[in-house]
Amino acid sequence: MRHPCGGLRRGHVGQKVTLSGWVHRLRDLGGLTFIDLRDASGIVQLVCRDLPLARKLSREDVIRVEGTVQPREAPNPDLPTGEVEVVVDALEVVARAQPLPFSPDEEPPRASEETRLRFRFLDLRRPRMQRNLRLRHQVSLAIRQYLDRQGFLEVETPLLTRSTPEGARDFLVPSRLEPGKFYALPQSPQLFKQILICSGVERYFQLARCFRDEDLRADRQPEFTQLDLEMAFLEEPEELFSLIEGLLAHVFRETIGVELETPFPRLPYQEAMARYGSDKPDLRFGLELTEVTELFVESELRVLRQAIAQGGRAFALRVPGEAGMSRKELGELEGVAKAHGAGGLLWLARGEELRGPLAKFLPQPAALWEATGLEVGDLLLVVAGPWETAATALGQVRLELGRKLSLIQEGKWCPLWVVDFPLLEWDEAEGRWTARHHPFTSPRPEDLEKLLDPSFPRERLGELKANAYDLVLNGVELGGGSIRIHRPEVQARMFEVLGIGPKAAQQRFGFFLRALEYGAPPHGGIALGLDRWVMMLAGESSLREVIAFPKTATGACPLTGAPAEVDPGQLEELHLEVKEG
Ligand code: ASP
Repeated sequence: MRHPCGGLRRGHVGQKVTLSGWVHRLRDLGGLTFIDLRDASGIVQLVCRDLPLARKLSREDVIRVEGTVQPREAPNPDLPTGEVEVVVDALEVVARAQPLPFSPDEEPPRASEETRLRFRFLDLRRPRMQRNLRLRHQVSLAIRQYLDRQGFLEVETPLLTRSTPEGARDFLVPSRLEPGKFYALPQSPQLFKQILICSGVERYFQLARCFRDEDLRADRQPEFTQLDLEMAFLEEPEELFSLIEGLLAHVFRETIGVELETPFPRLPYQEAMARYGSDKPDLRFGLELTEVTELFVESELRVLRQAIAQGGRAFALRVPGEAGMSRKELGELEGVAKAHGAGGLLWLARGEELRGPLAKFLPQPAALWEATGLEVGDLLLVVAGPWETAATALGQVRLELGRKLSLIQEGKWCPLWVVDFPLLEWDEAEGRWTARHHPFTSPRPEDLEKLLDPSFPRERLGELKANAYDLVLNGVELGGGSIRIHRPEVQARMFEVLGIGPKAAQQRFGFFLRALEYGAPPHGGIALGLDRWVMMLAGESSLREVIAFPKTATGACPLTGAPAEVDPGQLEELHLEVKEG
């Protein structure tokens, strides 16, 4: 019987064992060869005396050995098996490994991302990747356990479906049987989960694979997994909040042994923006923004006065004890603010005397000290401009300072709900309202009448709030959802507001609208990004570390070479032709 390598302990001393695994490391001291043997359970040291075959091994060869467990002369406290070793009596080479492009014992790996992905089978052998794969499995398991106990059914929805663009571009799959027609891979199971609710499944979830054909950013994958969930008879988000809080607490406890404090704070969108300059605030540290528009209305500083006169706002960030910050550092912070749309970053250092571009232009210093709490020794950073831009730019400066000044406590978990998002957003380029979450999101109950009232001024539709929410963890958006529209006439009005006429709505969403017409209960749900969640639990900084076979930043799979050309015959069958150039 094969014994797991990582399971050997002092209690096994004297036992004969059979082990199989990979040669993790080799040390050849002439007649004596030490091998670290690795399998999925861990690593154990083998000792080979006068075994010529042992000296011919290479890293990552697969071997089988028989031997006797004995106490280790120099115990290794870093290994769970560190108190024992196995003296080998018989060794058999099961499979040879080619010279390695990189070694799975390198941590962190020196190989390039491309090489790691091309030889993913070697990369995944790294104990850290094995741990990540196991963690991901445990997270999925804990989710399923918890939701099962709460009466949820996991239902699979199709991967070959109809294109109903939801913001991102669809991946299309040509139909062979119906030339010229296409399936799309789902961006999310949104409409299917709502139809399941209309089908009498009162509590649905799925660990769903989703696809979005976007220009990739470093932290995006074209296919990703989300925990997708929907509940019937949900009219107020609170019931969902406590369910999801329980779920998170369960998953954190079961996987990394952390107790999360519930309930999570709830923060309206406006307040999140005004206090943290972000709709996904990182609450692991303070440094809150203060609005100071009123205090600078009269400022002699032209940039400030002008920005405010044009309807802009001014936000300030007090950085305690940083009055001595160098111009170079301030320049770097200004770079951050500008990269996020600010015209510039104004500053004021309150040392023995006042320094900085604002020093000579303070209409009401005492009121400013009072409003921002600025004390001697502190630094004040100010951004002025359109409300959202100014707050966002200073919010990014806040995050940069959080990192730079090491204000973020390691190991701290700060989840929160951001609520009361705007229902609609004005799209300048298209000259129309678009749904901020998606078109199936209902307005807050108090705003429903305004949405339905045809005489409500169109230009004021931006004031309506959505019954939508985001779950944010340590400054990362873990997911979002909403209470849905379940009345067909409200859905029809929503499409109208979005500039989707009745014909277009029927053509694109007719199958869904029909489901709403046969007794649709109120409902709502959420989707949480599983990859990102596991990444955070694993303490990794890239999604690629927690997805077995991820794509590169250009959407390629170096392992398989996808995407790849196909045989002309395949194209022919699909009635497709590739245009040159
Ligand atoms: N379908 C949405 C998404 O994928 C989530 C939801 O509204 O439940 O972001």
